[in-house]
Amino acid sequence: MGSDCLFCRIVAGEIPATVVRETATTLAFRDIGPKAPVHVLVIPKEHYADVATLGQGDPALAGELLATAAAVAEDEGLLGDGFRLMFNTGAYGGQEVFHVHAHLLGGAPLGPMLC
Ligand code: C5P
Repeated sequence: MGSDCLFCRIVAGEIPATVVRETATTLAFRDIGPKAPVHVLVIPKEHYADVATLGQGDPALAGELLATAAAVAEDEGLLGDGFRLMFNTGAYGGQEVFHVHAHLLGGAPLGPMLC
């Protein structure tokens, strides 16, 4: 996708982000508009528009994304009290950036819906 995609540009280092974990295939960085005390976005470095195309196109990469999210949750001290991991998908899902990203939210009790 490249230059038209905001998150591809973060992967390329062209736009700054506060990175908390990086693997060969994934990147995790703090959301610029946090909706909870901990709000981290976890993305595959390779461009997929949403979780449906990622899950169907490369299930192994989807699993690596989940592993990175779990590692960040552990690093952020969220495993004891719990956390929320969610993918906004498409127009009805409220997705604004069309490079698949998991929202990892925690650090306080969350309401029934967030984001
Ligand atoms: O799931 P959705 O597409 O709505 O979320 C996009 C998220 O990307 C927002 O929470 C927004 O704050 C975040 N964002 C970011 N860094 C940017 C641009 C957007 O963390 N440079």
